[in-house]
Amino acid sequence: MKKNIATELINAGREQARISVETINPPIHRASTVLFGSYADMLQANRGEFKGIAYGTEGLAAQRAFEETMRELEGAEDCIAFQSGINAIAMSLMAFTEAGDHVLVCDNVYGPTRNFCNRVLSKYGVETEYFPSTCGTDIGKWIKDNTKVVFVESPGSNTFEIQDIPAIVNACEGRDIVTMMDNTWATPLYFSPLEHGVDVSIHSVSKYISGHSDILLGTAAANSRCWERLREFCGTLELFAPQEDCYQALRGLRTLPVRLRQHEQAALQIARGLQELECVAEVIHPALETHPEHALWKRDFNGSSGLFAFVLDEKYEESDHAPFMDSLELFGMGYSWGGFKSLITGGRFKRSNSFRYEGRTIFRVNVGMEDSADLLDDLKQGLSKI
Ligand SMILES: *Cc1c(COP(=O)(O)O)cnc(C)c1O
Repeated sequence: MKKNIATELINAGREQARISVETINPPIHRASTVLFGSYADMLQANRGEFKGIAYGTEGLAAQRAFEETMRELEGAEDCIAFQSGINAIAMSLMAFTEAGDHVLVCDNVYGPTRNFCNRVLSKYGVETEYFPSTCGTDIGKWIKDNTKVVFVESPGSNTFEIQDIPAIVNACEGRDIVTMMDNTWATPLYFSPLEHGVDVSIHSVSKYISGHSDILLGTAAANSRCWERLREFCGTLELFAPQEDCYQALRGLRTLPVRLRQHEQAALQIARGLQELECVAEVIHPALETHPEHALWKRDFNGSSGLFAFVLDEKYEESDHAPFMDSLELFGMGYSWGGFKSLITGGRFKRSNSFRYEGRTIFRVNVGMEDSADLLDDLKQGLSKI
């Protein structure tokens, strides 16, 4: 039947769009609607029994390819991608809690995670308490009858305290508690939460995994005990991640081992160089022997990434800091980390419990891909300005 032009335009080229070729990287689908091949398939989807993908929110090729790669890397039952790291954290916490529950979170947790617990979980009748950042076996003292989640971040991404994960997992065993870990600092390569008995491993993919400071994405991977509940919750909310970003994240993941090794070595060189300087009171890096939980890091981690911090001698005042920060040439001042460009942040932190760096300004360095000698020289010239 001869069609009119408007109809021709809607349907032209569809055959060619279905060509199937094998490329190294996954295709990026732009789709809400996914067409069914038959009415029988549609009826199955109506009943929630269709085995294929029935709608764009269920995750298209690039998302599925990225999630599958992460699943394998994490040794998980399965993994789901979210539109950001904080989104992965918030949704995981919501999936495993309900009104009347109690959640334990480490005190050095990423700030927005704390905000989410205090401002959102609380609205739904879930109470959060913060346990000391160097907790281990003593977590037992904090656990209540209604504790449903223990959330750890080790090392914390600003003050780098390390929790004794095996001891915490051990204390939670046999109870109706889900353990979750924000493993962004170590990436799946340098620490394996699930292998250490943690139930849900969470990453801000925006950092090392994507590695180029150009996307926001997160993941949560769960073991067989917890996957179904996470899947059900995220499926009901129809959460999904942008296809372009999943594609970029997967591309980043391919080179993660090489990049991370470079970040690690350069960061250690710079950390050791800073230790030599008189104006630096302490370099806070888990792989340095001087780090208070160095032994835990050595026992549990396979390596260290390129993010660490330092504090200056107490004789320097707040007003001395700006000349240092403002004179840096190679370090950008900005949040986030894990990309090729070196970054620095400065600030003080508040905790619920007393902590090591109370009232001290923490300078946090993200060592990028520049030459490490150049980076150390830049920090030295900056510090000479104070
Ligand atoms: C950045 C970060 C997050 C949040 O990730 P986004 O993708 O930026 O939302 C969570 N945890 C840690 C430790 C982070 O550094």
